Amino acid sequence: MSLELLRTLCNLPAPPGREDEFRAFIVEHLSPYADDVHTDAMGNVFFTRRGSGSSPRTIMLAAHMDEISFLVRHISKEGFLYVQPLGGFDPRVLDAQRVWVHGRKRIPGVFGTKPTHFTTPDERTKAVPLEDMFIDVGLPPEKVTELVRIGDPITLERDLIEMGHFYTGKTLDDRVGMYVMVEAFKRFASSHDTIVAVATVQEEVGVRGAKTAAFSLEPHIGIALDITIAADIPGIEERNWCVRLGEGTAVKIMDSYSISDPRLVEFLRTLAEERGIRHQMEILPRGGTDAGGMQLSRSGIPVCTISIPCRYAHSVVESVHRDDVAASIELLRTFCEQSHRFSVA
Ligand SMILES: [Zn+2]
Repeated sequence: MSLELLRTLCNLPAPPGREDEFRAFIVEHLSPYADDVHTDAMGNVFFTRRGSGSSPRTIMLAAHMDEISFLVRHISKEGFLYVQPLGGFDPRVLDAQRVWVHGRKRIPGVFGTKPTHFTTPDERTKAVPLEDMFIDVGLPPEKVTELVRIGDPITLERDLIEMGHFYTGKTLDDRVGMYVMVEAFKRFASSHDTIVAVATVQEEVGVRGAKTAAFSLEPHIGIALDITIAADIPGIEERNWCVRLGEGTAVKIMDSYSISDPRLVEFLRTLAEERGIRHQMEILPRGGTDAGGMQLSRSGIPVCTISIPCRYAHSVVESVHRDDVAASIELLRTFCEQSHRFSVA
């Protein structure tokens, strides 16, 4: 495990549709391992390792580069910024958080919060709606308008740290999925099938990049790498936990965007059992991954998601277990080497 690489991936900003900085890093980092690299018009990047078989199929792996973030929607005459969210935010977890405003230069800011001395008992029990939340960048209004324009991106600020057996920080959704894809792509010895690792765009706003990427690539099989919800925390009953942190990689049976191909689910499960890779089966009632976009491409593609269990999703304290990350890499690596054993016929 390379904490440094995961930290770098988590720190690079990539609002949906503005993945440039992240893309530049991933191209530089992963290109030496690929036979071919290209970027499409939307910004998806395709890293290809050609198959050694006589008639190799194409297998698309997908992990999204983009992160839940914001655009500047309005600048008040006092210089406070109001935001348009990109992706699913719960305002409860944003109050009093630090951000980066990517204006003419990158400047820090904070989501301002009313001091408790001035809140009514009623206000103390409720989250402020997102449209009323504001960002303070500590500058006079004329300086703010000089540096910041409507439409400039804003990302959350929080460094990745090790906490017990966990990694915790922002954007583990989906930088940990990207990390799993990158490491498996580097490590698999060889494959009969052609493996194309795609760093996708705009997942958080409705799996947009994966759709166009799958259309052009025409893969025979699609595997997404993303987090899933580990709800194994106080206040949630065990039957609703979905998956548990530290209990292994998760093979997705379904979520609200895709129903995994049952043969592919069974194949991944068999590989995990054969290799002694710790795993759990996942049904996620709400949410989706790039698998949803790939599945509906052209005349349809068998898909599955290898998920990394994550607590506190879409907050700055997203947490994953290091053993689950390692198990996910191992399952994906094994899949790349053994994919020829899987047939939809
Ligand atoms: Zn995600």
